[in-house]
Amino acid sequence: MSKDKLFGLVDLDWRFELTKFRPVRALFKSRWFPLLPILFNLFIFVIILLAGFLGGYSAGNYNFGIMIVWILWWVMLMFVLVPVLSRAWCLMCPFPIFGEWAQRGALFGVNMGKLGGLNLKWPKALKNMWIMNVFFLVTTFFSGFFTVRPLATFILLGLIILIAFIMGLIFEKRSFCLYVCPVSGFQGLYSQFATTEIRSKDPQVCKEHKLKTCYLGNEKGYGCPWLLAPFSFRKNTYCGMCLECFKSCPYDNMAFNLRPPGADLLVDDKRGLDEAWKSFIMLGIAMVFFLSMQGPWGVLKDMVRASTLRGYLTFITFHTVLCLLVIPGIFFVFSYLSKVFSGNKEVSLKKLFINFSYTLIPIGLGAWIAFSFGIVLPNGSYILHILSDPFSWGWNLFGTKNVPWTPVFTHSLGYLQGITLLVFYLFSLAYGFRLSKQTFPGLQEAKRGWIPIFTFLTLTTLLFLWLYIG
Ligand code: SF4
Ligand code: SF4
Repeated sequence: MSKDKLFGLVDLDWRFELTKFRPVRALFKSRWFPLLPILFNLFIFVIILLAGFLGGYSAGNYNFGIMIVWILWWVMLMFVLVPVLSRAWCLMCPFPIFGEWAQRGALFGVNMGKLGGLNLKWPKALKNMWIMNVFFLVTTFFSGFFTVRPLATFILLGLIILIAFIMGLIFEKRSFCLYVCPVSGFQGLYSQFATTEIRSKDPQVCKEHKLKTCYLGNEKGYGCPWLLAPFSFRKNTYCGMCLECFKSCPYDNMAFNLRPPGADLLVDDKRGLDEAWKSFIMLGIAMVFFLSMQGPWGVLKDMVRASTLRGYLTFITFHTVLCLLVIPGIFFVFSYLSKVFSGNKEVSLKKLFINFSYTLIPIGLGAWIAFSFGIVLPNGSYILHILSDPFSWGWNLFGTKNVPWTPVFTHSLGYLQGITLLVFYLFSLAYGFRLSKQTFPGLQEAKRGWIPIFTFLTLTTLLFLWLYIG
């Protein structure tokens, strides 16, 4: 039987287990991991919060909080953490740990008793990405302040930590991460593209292990805090990579694998309008952020930074309508055309719309990576400065306080952005046609139905190319 190969090169079923190396498995099974990276990040975020609070309403380009969060962290998320390591940020995230420690009554060991707090179930109707979609979109309304006013970053992070803690006291396990965290939704969506995954190894071993300790927990590890069934889940979206299942599985049947990028895009599991809208929103935000932060139009910057109330309200309205209505609306028209072109009467328009929305994941991620080049190359040198003088108190901890602002490789920025957009466009096409074959029963229908979606993806990429490199 011929294998399905991505670009004719990589077998889509190819996996390479990294946890087969003993030191990696030992690390994943240790209770010190990921506790130590969490504690380290907690320390960094305390400094970030302090710097944000002390920096107040001052300009932000020499503020530790702003530089670490909006340059280093954001760029690491988009360049490495999400596309390569899936939800590795969630593995070491300090935001929800106070709630989690309060539930467990333990910092290090496993408390086998009932979890503390009210432990309520999250309402069924809200078990989706809608709250995260709205929360993230609303957060971007204040993007003009986060990057220039340290206090705004302090308020945002403080709010996230506070909400995560209160929700940890009320709702079971990681309900906050699964259904509310604004950073969670896009990580979940784009982690489907990631080149790594956590999965069970041998289904037969799982079948015979009646106790299902990865789900229920044992003395070595907690039952999946993300409420997944580790023995059967099939895509990265809702696995927070907490590694508890590596500790609680007595047969070492969980694996951390390398895999071809984008493998989850073909997994028809829990696909829905909430995830579709997440991809529209992410595309819209990438566009608006570019226009307002890296584009040549000063008037847009003024609107986003609320120089006038009228301008600010115009920005919010335009941004919301673009993300929630215009992009989905245009995509709906192309989906409708896909149905017409295919000639198929049985496949519902909704299914077609949802399935094809997953083609937007590679180009969306590409647009964000390209945007991130535009942040880090001109501004990255600020980080050296603020590492030495985090609170602007005149310290020079590492001797880098006087490093001047030095843009690097900015002459190549356009090339890097263009190449990135094109590479991710190719991934969208590669998966798009496969999604078409998955959606329509006949090959000819799939080919005809693919034409409008191919057109949409091409036009969208051309639009981004025009925006980024003119
Ligand atoms: S979902 Fe949010 S709060 Fe939870 S671990 Fe991930 S980034 Fe942190
Ligand atoms: S499946 Fe659950 S327990 Fe295992 S790493 Fe993912 S979130 Fe953690």
